[in-house]
Amino acid sequence: MLPNHFISADEQAELQLFTESLERFCDAEIEPHYRTWEKAGRVPRDLLRKMGENGYLCADVPDTYGGPGASVPFSFAVVEVLSRRGYGGFVGGLQVHNDIIPPYLLHCGTEAQRAHWLPRMASGEAIAAIGMTEPGAGSDLKAIRTTARRVSDSDGDHYVINGSKIFISNGQNCDLLVLAAKTDPAAGAKGVSLFLVDAATPGFTRGQNLEKIGQHAGDTSELFFNDMRVPLDALLGGVEGQGFVQMMRELPRERLIIGVQAVHGAKGALDATLKYVQERQAFGQPIGQFQNTRFTLAQCASDIAAAEAFLNASVAAYQQGQLTPEAVSALKLHTTELFSRVADACLQLFGGYGYMAEYPISRFWTDARVLRIYGGTSEIMKELVARGMLGR
Ligand SMILES: Cc1cc2nc3c(=O)[nH]c(=O)nc-3n(C[C@H](O)[C@H](O)[C@H](O)COP(=O)(O)OP(=O)(O)OC[C@H]3O[C@@H](n4cnc5c(N)ncnc54)[C@H](O)[C@@H]3O)c2cc1C
Repeated sequence: MLPNHFISADEQAELQLFTESLERFCDAEIEPHYRTWEKAGRVPRDLLRKMGENGYLCADVPDTYGGPGASVPFSFAVVEVLSRRGYGGFVGGLQVHNDIIPPYLLHCGTEAQRAHWLPRMASGEAIAAIGMTEPGAGSDLKAIRTTARRVSDSDGDHYVINGSKIFISNGQNCDLLVLAAKTDPAAGAKGVSLFLVDAATPGFTRGQNLEKIGQHAGDTSELFFNDMRVPLDALLGGVEGQGFVQMMRELPRERLIIGVQAVHGAKGALDATLKYVQERQAFGQPIGQFQNTRFTLAQCASDIAAAEAFLNASVAAYQQGQLTPEAVSALKLHTTELFSRVADACLQLFGGYGYMAEYPISRFWTDARVLRIYGGTSEIMKELVARGMLGR
């Protein structure tokens, strides 16, 4: 980990201890079971409870809301450690829980909404997911068709939600879904609102756990809402039509954390490869002695170092409230494309063994691929960067 200049030396030392304790937790609680969880397509809910007990969940949520009350780098350190160890499938869902949903509650929620959900999320009692994407609306979020209609009847006032979502991380395990729906279908982006939906609500149904080409330990699902009644106070922030503004406000942290996942995933892929090329022999010498291997490793290390500097500058800008949508889009674009390139170059150095699921490098390679898609595709990132340059 490079020093973070926006936390004090004392905090840096605490961060080091935090990271070391998390490494020990991974050795004891994750590593022995990870392949079983990959086969099961999800991690056990109990894992999050154990992480909550140890302060690894929602690390920067203030203690007034039951969180550990640490600074942002502590929460990012969780993603760093797990990504570097090759637990990409778990990280995909965990970062939604730790880094994406808490800011929605903290910045946009009412006091009652924060008090209800954040302590349960920090303890791991409630697992959070976010539902934006629909079968007919991914990059083009304004096209979502899920509706939330406000009604008053003999049961009182509530919203009735109908529609579906797809590709939702933590879809099987979630207790809380931050759901994007249209409260005014005629108003375009201004008609979108976010709801805090308790997954136990009648009318909420989970589809199958989707089979993916990578990130096997993460559950990803379609979700269906059929005349699902939610109370009025499930509306995030209590004001209709704010959903798009809220999503645009919180997307930078989502893209930043994916950058963390990408850079540290690339470092993990390179670590695994460095070890392998010194052990594997061909033509009477370790393959690490071939110039091609040495140049490949050097190129990966140099590219990762540059990406990490970009990442650290972006984290610092975020901590100072200065990370722009264009800048974080450039970061996501750069780091996620880099992770795929590094994982691919490293896999090549494993030869046929790199194509075997038993070798963690294959997992880095498949896990890396989706980072260029979720949280906004590389093409959408380019659009956002260009918009910043051209003004539209
Ligand atoms: C494993 C996984 C986990 C996910 N987790 C979540 C989650 O938790 N919550 C959630 O809401 N969503 C989630 N997603 C959905 C993800 O964010 C979307 O898949 C992504 O935003 C792309 O949308 P799409 O799949 O509909 O592709 P489309 O929008 O249909 O895009 C198809 C292609 O067209 C390109 N394209 C689209 N528009 C443009 C344009 N204007 N200019 C140039 N090219 C364009 C895209 O870049 C892409 O190459 C997840 C997806 C996966 C695979």
